[in-house]
Amino acid sequence: QAKLGGRNRAVEFRSEYDVNASQRLQLVQRLREALDNDEFTVLFQPQFDCDGRAICVEALVRWQDPQRGLLLPAEFIDACEDSGLIMQLGRQVLNAAASHHEHLVAAGLPQMRIAVNVSAAQFTDELYDDVEDVVLRLGLPPGALELELTESVVMQSPERAIDLMKRIATLGVCFSIDDFGTGYSSLAYLKRFPIDRLKIDRSFVQDLDSNVQDAAICRSIIELARSLDVGTVAEGVETVQQERWLREHGCVGLQGFLLGRPQPFATLLPSLLAGYAVAPIE
Ligand code: C2E
Ligand code: MG
Ligand code: MG
Ligand code: MG
Repeated sequence: QAKLGGRNRAVEFRSEYDVNASQRLQLVQRLREALDNDEFTVLFQPQFDCDGRAICVEALVRWQDPQRGLLLPAEFIDACEDSGLIMQLGRQVLNAAASHHEHLVAAGLPQMRIAVNVSAAQFTDELYDDVEDVVLRLGLPPGALELELTESVVMQSPERAIDLMKRIATLGVCFSIDDFGTGYSSLAYLKRFPIDRLKIDRSFVQDLDSNVQDAAICRSIIELARSLDVGTVAEGVETVQQERWLREHGCVGLQGFLLGRPQPFATLLPSLLAGYAVAPIE
């Protein structure tokens, strides 16, 4: 065992590091090409209110790699952030997502929101310019576009975040805190952020039926949101039991595989129009 230590081990780490670094470099190079070749597509996942009406679609990016097929954000978002490519990708997603607003209007769903995820590296003054561009160019009405920010994004520099969010909000854009409950939100700041809703992280929703602590956390988040006069959306709703519990406890919005998977906008539209059949709570 002891022989594994010392020099050999250092050499091993070194080469592993080099392999990772060169793989990362290759990935970034491929991502650059992918952006130029339009290999990214945007899927949409619906959110419904407790009456079964569609209220929002969240844009979720995918990389259609000609060699490897459809790749999830977990495979490439970090590399996009580190390399700065996220700015270009984010702009593409924002434009693709917002361009569907007119289709929602045409389908008779003008009140629906389109939500777009924003990562830390994107949350700069440049985001204001990109959002302003898309809002003005597409003539988006107030409330049509929602930006999802995680707690870590806004808490990194809360005063700056408040300032930037307020400026972007003047464009008629609303905000939600994504994956809520997993980060380090300060309640003092939470009440000062111009946010419209909290998205309860999937990890709390997952075992809602069997884990009393998770149920208590969900209840507290819904209560907290109410006190702050903001809405709630539960992520990752997969079972009828979860859906029922969340409705009974006053969660405003529901999102998850039970209600709809991320999919191309065109195939999603019929289910947005139909809504989902809500079972009565006796
Ligand atoms: P997120 O914003 O929290 O998105 C929700 C994730 O949960 C999505 O994964 C979605 O497919 C998945 N999900 C939804 N319902 C269920 C369910 O019922 N069960 C389970 N097991 N999963 C469910 P996805 O699409 O892989 O995205 C992962 C993360 O990548 C997102 O988490 C978001 O943080 C990030 N992301 C996605 N698209 C973009 C983008 O365009 N820009 C940026 N910056 N980040 C993005
Ligand atoms: Mg999200
Ligand atoms: Mg989330
Ligand atoms: Mg998440």
